[in-house]
Amino acid sequence: MGHNTSRSGYEKLVDRLNKFPQGVPPSDTLYEILKLLFSEEEAKLVSLLPIKPFTTKTAAKAWKKSEAEASVVLNELASRALLVDVERDGNQTFSLPPPMAGFFEFSMMRIGGNFDQKLLGELFYQYMNIEDEFVTDLLTLPTPIGRAYVHEETIEDHMIHVLDYERATKVIKTATHIGIGTCYCRHKKEHVGEACDAPMEICMTFNQTAASLIKYGYARQVEEEECLDLLELAKKHNLVQFGDNVQNEVAFICNCCSCCCEALVGARKVGPYQAINSSNFICNIIDDNCKGCQKCVDVCPVEALSMVSRNLPNSKKMLAQLVEENCIGCGVCARVCGSDAIKMNPRDQKVFTPVNMAHRVVLEAIETGKLQNLIFDNQAHFRHRALASILGAILKLPVIKQTLASKQVKSKYILKLIQNKNSKIVNSHILKD
Ligand code: SF4
Ligand code: SF4
Ligand code: SF4
Repeated sequence: MGHNTSRSGYEKLVDRLNKFPQGVPPSDTLYEILKLLFSEEEAKLVSLLPIKPFTTKTAAKAWKKSEAEASVVLNELASRALLVDVERDGNQTFSLPPPMAGFFEFSMMRIGGNFDQKLLGELFYQYMNIEDEFVTDLLTLPTPIGRAYVHEETIEDHMIHVLDYERATKVIKTATHIGIGTCYCRHKKEHVGEACDAPMEICMTFNQTAASLIKYGYARQVEEEECLDLLELAKKHNLVQFGDNVQNEVAFICNCCSCCCEALVGARKVGPYQAINSSNFICNIIDDNCKGCQKCVDVCPVEALSMVSRNLPNSKKMLAQLVEENCIGCGVCARVCGSDAIKMNPRDQKVFTPVNMAHRVVLEAIETGKLQNLIFDNQAHFRHRALASILGAILKLPVIKQTLASKQVKSKYILKLIQNKNSKIVNSHILKD
């Protein structure tokens, strides 16, 4: 194996990827995947790139190449969706997305694509479904990477209290760009002969991520109406809307089946409420209305429902029952119940949702003990004194206290600081300076 020789480009790339809060446990399969995606020279070059978005000039400096030479490499990597290319203030910037939700998926979001997708599909299956350390680590991050959206028609009585970021329709209606790509999970399963019949061309990307994927042919640009139609189609197939766990600048909403979706399959293993941020709603069974048909049990993606006996003398009548801690508040059960026996009720406590990607990355970095990587890599932090002093203080804490520190980053004070439109922090999105 290439990685057994000292410090191959691929080993350096793995080290670089492991600077992210979500890492990639090394294995022979991982190296096979990376060899399909990157040449060894590309792997070495990518390992030198910063965590924060960067310009061609920065890459040229890191690579000791001319800007013209660096530009050729960057555009080639972006054209294979291994880098995301974003236009900011008229300037082209690039960033290396994490493996998930990121370049692992993007490589399978276009049928045909640049890679041997049959082999890739088999390798992803091996890496994520057989050797499951990667998915388990990803889904046990204290701040989950994804959150469930509730089917809006099941909460009509509560609409007045629902915030914009809680509605998939609002994400669609406010996106600057909308791209539709191939569902990575079902595409991967297709290559191992296990795909289901849920729609395949239905992975939704938004805003700058969509713009980059559209530019390089990894997603098809659509208008709001078509995306809303696809959302309806997804609901008809009882698919769960699972998106970026952020309030603003949502990059993706997946329409997930319980059989193929990496996140839902993994969630059933590690515990759904731990793996996926719930919506702010929870299923509530009205026992008197339940006819015991079991439809809700069959569609619940995380096995939060089961049938139990009504315990009536001389009767085999059954009733649906909820395991509350497993419910992710998707509302799929309420849609299929024809007996008005399921109501989606607001949760007693609002679920914490990071304001934006930067907020989530900082939290995850604290929670995984990788905050040092983020700050060391990103000198821009030190220009924002408020955040720098908070992060500096966190770094001085012993590891056990750093875990507690994540609660401080979740505090209302920090939320306000990040939400403040005039704050330099929001203008720079912390990592995007
Ligand atoms: S997360 Fe869901 S929609 Fe996205 S790629 Fe996987 S199954 Fe498809
Ligand atoms: S779908 Fe409705 S009626 Fe059927 S078991 Fe579930 S709650 Fe009861
Ligand atoms: S019980 Fe299952 S289907 Fe119903 S809202 Fe909860 S997670 Fe979704």
